[in-house]
Amino acid sequence: MQANNRYYETLYGAYGQYFTQDKLVFEQSTPQWQLTIFDNARFGRVMSLNGAIQTTERDEFIYHEMLTHVPILAHGAVQSVLIIGGGDGGMLREVVKHAQIRNITLVEIDAAVIEMCKTYFPQHSQGAFEDERVEVVIEDGMAFVQSCQQGFDVIISDCTDPVGPGEVLFSSDFYQACIACLNEEGIFVAQNGVPFMQPDEVPNTVRRMSPYVKECWFYMAAVPTYVGGSMAFAWATDNLSARQLDLASLMARYDAAGISTRYYTPAIHQASFALPGFVEQAVRSA
Ligand code: SAM
Repeated sequence: MQANNRYYETLYGAYGQYFTQDKLVFEQSTPQWQLTIFDNARFGRVMSLNGAIQTTERDEFIYHEMLTHVPILAHGAVQSVLIIGGGDGGMLREVVKHAQIRNITLVEIDAAVIEMCKTYFPQHSQGAFEDERVEVVIEDGMAFVQSCQQGFDVIISDCTDPVGPGEVLFSSDFYQACIACLNEEGIFVAQNGVPFMQPDEVPNTVRRMSPYVKECWFYMAAVPTYVGGSMAFAWATDNLSARQLDLASLMARYDAAGISTRYYTPAIHQASFALPGFVEQAVRSA
């Protein structure tokens, strides 16, 4: 919603944020979305889909680094990665930093998001769509995982909120299909909303995912754009040692990977699995 040169996010009824829309850069209705791109003095370029802020130039690194390097470094020998959603290319940029990864599949429902972001958010993908290890599939993520024959070491669900086309990516069937697509030591991660603002997401995920996997847990990071406190990331795996990795081993893996990051550090990685009491309670009582 727009008023007085301000873009009001319409995600939560009783509370919200606005950005001054210093310059409207692009607006389009795609088959799936009402897409708006504008510039803001504090957050840089901002993208919104159907009134919900998706990503901003200035703080996207926190979200993208935490959803990629945590599972990849916890696993330790990742060769194949599946990204569901992720049309802005930020996730891809972080995954391609890992030289040992052989193939990366990105499944995005809306080709227009990819094209718009290549044009208006070049800093997100930084050419990663052109990396020869990357295959882009334009398809519903649910349909892809349900018919997928290939196994992946890491699956990242970088989806919109659980309304509209993104809703299916929070379903029990989706989680079951993703877990079935994981290789033996594989790890699934997913954005799971801001628990203080979206208190149902964590317990719903636990109930829907737990039947299919040995470990369903969460880790967290505060991303300023996603208002209302820290965001939760779902973590699911049969690889029970991955979450327990000691700091020295994580540091050795980070150094060996030779990547540079702005938010992720091995210490942040380890600490992010410590949940605030109300979130841990939501997990354990689900
Ligand atoms: N970081 C953002 C957030 O949490 O607000 C989300 C990132 S945005 C790149 C999510 C992407 O998921 C969008 O490009 C959208 O088109 C895509 N998406 C939504 N539903 C999908 C589905 N069912 N299958 C594949 N991609 C989907």
